[in-house]
Amino acid sequence: MAAMIRLHNTLSGRVEEFVPIESGSVKLYTCGPTVYDFPHIGNWRSYVFEDLLKRLFLYRGFRVLHVMNITDVDDKTIRGANAKGVGLDEYTKPFIEAFARDRDVLAILPADVYPRATAHIEEMVVLIEALLRKGFAYRKDGSIYFAIDKFPAYGRLSKINLEDLRPGSHADADEYAKESVHDFALWKAPKEGEPVWETRIGPGRPGWHIECSAMSSRYLGRTFDIHCGGVDNIFPHHENEIAQSEAATGVTFVNYWVHGHHLVVDGEKMSKSKGNFYTLTDILEKGYDPLDVRYLLVATHYRKMLNFTFEALDQARTARRRIGNFLGELRAAAQDGPSDPAVVRMVDEARAGFVTGLEDDLNISEALAAVFTLIKSAYPLLTRSEMTKADGSLISEFVAEADKVLGVRPSPVVSASGKINATSELSGAVTVIEAEILAKIEARQKARAGRDFKRADEIRDELLEAGIVLEDTKDGVRWKRTGPPKS
Ligand code: AMP
Ligand code: ZN
Repeated sequence: MAAMIRLHNTLSGRVEEFVPIESGSVKLYTCGPTVYDFPHIGNWRSYVFEDLLKRLFLYRGFRVLHVMNITDVDDKTIRGANAKGVGLDEYTKPFIEAFARDRDVLAILPADVYPRATAHIEEMVVLIEALLRKGFAYRKDGSIYFAIDKFPAYGRLSKINLEDLRPGSHADADEYAKESVHDFALWKAPKEGEPVWETRIGPGRPGWHIECSAMSSRYLGRTFDIHCGGVDNIFPHHENEIAQSEAATGVTFVNYWVHGHHLVVDGEKMSKSKGNFYTLTDILEKGYDPLDVRYLLVATHYRKMLNFTFEALDQARTARRRIGNFLGELRAAAQDGPSDPAVVRMVDEARAGFVTGLEDDLNISEALAAVFTLIKSAYPLLTRSEMTKADGSLISEFVAEADKVLGVRPSPVVSASGKINATSELSGAVTVIEAEILAKIEARQKARAGRDFKRADEIRDELLEAGIVLEDTKDGVRWKRTGPPKS
């Protein structure tokens, strides 16, 4: 089957066939974390949807060049650093580390480049110089603003109404609502308590929006294929990115704008004051496996609002276990003989349904239905002991293939440094929570690093008792089940 991927493009408001700029390759930019706090599960919903999209392209044979920025200077990071009385670097470091750790735990494939805003000031200066030269930007009180009335296409992405716009009204805040549309700051004049860069356009620091225009073109070129983010990024962030980039270069900035809808908790926006604000760690501490969380995030179509509840997370856990238990039983299929043509047909249909679903604007319900229909149809053969080994491998190979895109059944590998990586291998049935196993493996790594070999061996033995055998490899520690899992 040739790949024909269709995606909803916010710019046109329609689902369109994806045609890459360069055949067989996708240049993808996804807005990354503003590292002023730990990422919350809403952020992870956006990153997981982007990962699903990227994995689909990889599965369908595309090369993907993926760039995700790290916003390490903006109003929020500066405010946080000042409140703590530390420099930006020191303030943002733990949040950047937490982002990378959670990303690995959620089996999100890393981007090719994670450019940091503070490391790309020169690229931003070059862009702002071009905007000044071409008359799209003006100086005021040491700051530089983008004049949106000079760019007629302003508002096309977010479909805002510019009728009430007062030309020249401007403001400095990085974030603002559609109702207060105005000229936005490209470069902000030095201010008490803010970091300052001495540059050709004068001293100051960048506004938030300019970094994504500057860094995306640095790594992906002036025009690239896909730009993603959550719906809150549409205005003003992405609208401003288009204005900055297209005004400076005179060419189309991005061909497909793909936005994921938000996650809410118990039907409400997450907020610390409401007590419904969760980081991934908050959820894992309740005993869930990170991949239960991934399953939950992946299983709702990206353009629908996702209401996070613990009941929904329990259902996600059950669905994952169903796949795991099924694979465990498949492995027990011991009959010799050729594969049954009916099974071959079942697998072909499942594959076709899975691919067709995902290629249709990531229709995840259809894709998952294809996998579960296969499980349902295969069970009677298993219970009647009519499944041959050949049938069993055919089915489990398809599930492994599907998991390359879904990423919900990886067997985790803990590297020697204690950092958790994830590979897309399929492991056995899940009844012992993988997060617990990982925690033990990490504790053993720590004990070994502290030369407490007695404790390290005790932990290894405890795991063995629970049916988990550890293997020290050059890439770190791998774990396997020795037999049917004990709950
Ligand atoms: P930020 O760190 O706020 O710059 O956001 C990083 C990414 O998370 C952006 O793509 C946002 O659109 C996305 N995001 C923020 N809040 C949510 C939410 N509640 N649900 C889904 N995505 C979100
Ligand atoms: Zn951005």
